Amino acid sequence: MDYGSEELVVKLYDIDQQEARIIGLKEYVIGAVAASMPPEFPKEALKAQAICCRTLAVKRMGIFGGSGCKRQPGFDVCNDSLHCQGFMDIEERQKAWGSRYEEFTEKITAAVEDTSEVIIVYNNNPIEAVYHTACGGCTEDSENVWGNKVSYLRRVECIYCKDSPYWKTTKNFSVRELKRRLAINFDDSLSDNREIPGLLENINSTASGRIKKIKIGDMIFQGEDIKNLLGLSSTKFSWKVSALSFQVMGHGHGLGLCQYGARGMALLGFPVDEILKFYFTGVELKRLERPTYTKPLIGKTIVVDPGHGGDSGNSGPMGLSEGYVNLEIARAVAEGLMQCGAKVMLTRDKNEFVSLSERIRISNEIKPDITLSIQQNFFPDEQVGGTETFYYPGDVEGKKIAEFIHRELIAHLQLSDMGVKPADLFVLRETNNPSVMVNVAALSNPEEERLLSEPQFRQKAATAIINGIKCYYQE
Ligand SMILES: [Zn+2]
Ligand SMILES: [Zn+2]
Repeated sequence: MDYGSEELVVKLYDIDQQEARIIGLKEYVIGAVAASMPPEFPKEALKAQAICCRTLAVKRMGIFGGSGCKRQPGFDVCNDSLHCQGFMDIEERQKAWGSRYEEFTEKITAAVEDTSEVIIVYNNNPIEAVYHTACGGCTEDSENVWGNKVSYLRRVECIYCKDSPYWKTTKNFSVRELKRRLAINFDDSLSDNREIPGLLENINSTASGRIKKIKIGDMIFQGEDIKNLLGLSSTKFSWKVSALSFQVMGHGHGLGLCQYGARGMALLGFPVDEILKFYFTGVELKRLERPTYTKPLIGKTIVVDPGHGGDSGNSGPMGLSEGYVNLEIARAVAEGLMQCGAKVMLTRDKNEFVSLSERIRISNEIKPDITLSIQQNFFPDEQVGGTETFYYPGDVEGKKIAEFIHRELIAHLQLSDMGVKPADLFVLRETNNPSVMVNVAALSNPEEERLLSEPQFRQKAATAIINGIKCYYQE
């Protein structure tokens, strides 16, 4: 089967219906664009939105190595616009768009098809392509919203959303409403002769409380003038603050794409790539690289750790060094994993001593998906032999990986099955990710030592380990 031409599917969790939906990527992007941008917007803006929606999904999709929706395990995305991304299905679109359903669907579908499989990447990785309604003058640096610095989410000055209804909005609150909403109290009682700096100052009143002279703003008035100008019935008056008006610029968090800005740029004739590169700093647009059966491990990072067999370095009865055997198998495993598309790091690539704590430090720094330690068994009895695989107690994913790898090793090497076991081993305990220790064979057993000395046998072991990892991800 040519997997490459198959349509990619998104596993969507519907939070309202509390059900799973499996949707083709194209249909998903149409629904996400419909949920996030008015369909009346110009085409280049809709195209920019389609690329953002697709990139956000791809960044989460498990098949591309994403971690999925962090709230709904096992799903790529949820349809909560405040969590992953909103989504409108056909029914919801018909309801919302009424007689314009056909027209809007055609328009959005065209924007999705015109940008088919294009995503935004930074350093060749899909970005967190966030968007907001209108920035109101400039977008925001990520650290001011999320607390961490993201290189492509930098503040840019944007005048393109100036025509939007959100550029500047005013909201008025009565003093009573303000007190209620903020749960605060302050004195707003009627006041005679109380100055409000900058507004009512230099009040001069008679003993009977009539205003003789007052400065309002930058003008000095006679009490009599005020009375006439404002139509008051006497000069014996007082005042209080009864409302406050807030002026707000923009709408939304201000990160990434300013949607009304994209609209403004599109109306000015900017093409979609210039719009996206304006709002996302230093990014590139790229066609999606599809994961295929020949590269099922794209997006995975795996650390392969060839053990030494103790500080002094174990060797078999005929003198075969464990450090050497482990390194040879580890190299073959690394090469095979890379051919499957994984990023692989060996904790040592020469037959030289690197301490265990240093190897663990290397692994933890890389934060891989799996740490795989390659070792050999040593049994006191020369006749005992076999394959044995370990995981750290409670490491659920580590246990699954160990079981897949072990099954393949037993099937292909056909040595005694010493089992898959939990073990409180330093290398498993100290690594911060799912980790597995494989003991391929018993170097203490002369027959297995002879096998381990053969390159074909070591390659067979490496292939079995790689197959185990592929099975784990394809399960
Ligand atoms: Zn989610
Ligand atoms: Zn803007």
